[in-house]
Amino acid sequence: MTDFGGAVQEKSRYELAIIGVPFDEKSSYLRGSAGGPAAIRASSTGKARNPVTELGVDLEHDTVIVDLGDIDTSGDVDKTFLRIETAVAAVIHKKAKPIILGGDHSITYPILKVVAGAWRGVDILHFDAHPDLYEDLYGDRLSHACPFARIMEDGLAESLVQVGVRAATSEQRTTAKRHGVRMIEMKDFRDDLSLEFTRPLYISFDLDALDPAFAPGVSHQEAGGLTTRQAIDIIHRLKAKIIGLDVVELNPDRDPSGITASAAVKIVKEVAGMMIRRSRSSRRA
Ligand code: MN
Ligand code: MN
Repeated sequence: MTDFGGAVQEKSRYELAIIGVPFDEKSSYLRGSAGGPAAIRASSTGKARNPVTELGVDLEHDTVIVDLGDIDTSGDVDKTFLRIETAVAAVIHKKAKPIILGGDHSITYPILKVVAGAWRGVDILHFDAHPDLYEDLYGDRLSHACPFARIMEDGLAESLVQVGVRAATSEQRTTAKRHGVRMIEMKDFRDDLSLEFTRPLYISFDLDALDPAFAPGVSHQEAGGLTTRQAIDIIHRLKAKIIGLDVVELNPDRDPSGITASAAVKIVKEVAGMMIRRSRSSRRA
């Protein structure tokens, strides 16, 4: 277990909780993302970085972050998904916010079942090269290519905004339209993108949203993506209350230099800082 720049503490009361999900059984192409949580934790060590975010939040002193370790992913997929739900529910029950490290993107569906049940209406900001809106992939409705189809058909989000998309099929465009998904494709992307949400916001960050130049350590490299800087800027401009985050699809087998794990740590830190900042300002209000 490591420390996110020295920020992770061992306390029973906490504001943010990291949960690892070493699971890649719903990957349609390469396995390897089960190694994601360990690679992100290793890259996060305080020997390599400090706990302060770009916006000046000190994650060691301004909040309490714990790392609850990895969930057990042995046995059937149903059992793993149930354990994900249980782990996320326990964090929300403590009035804390979950930060989940994947794992392939299929895990976002069980996470959202709990998040949507706990909050009355959530919006989702989804970073991804892919819409992940397939009805099924090779007959599997729980594939990592499908979580947002399940989330939208179950009514688990009031709105879904996708950023970074550059591999949409006509089937997925139709599904997006049917569910009112706002798909911001890379071909239409502008640097000054500023997103407004009216409800509590859940962020799901598939690392393949980033260009493979910045994040090669993913199973489905798709050129023409976001720079890490652009993604961070979008996050920094959010005004919504952020209530949860997952960072998924890191495949350490394809990340020999660790550049992708490093980007993942950066995303976790900056979003964590925004979670603190927003919850403080809402307490003051
Ligand atoms: Mn993707
Ligand atoms: Mn995805």
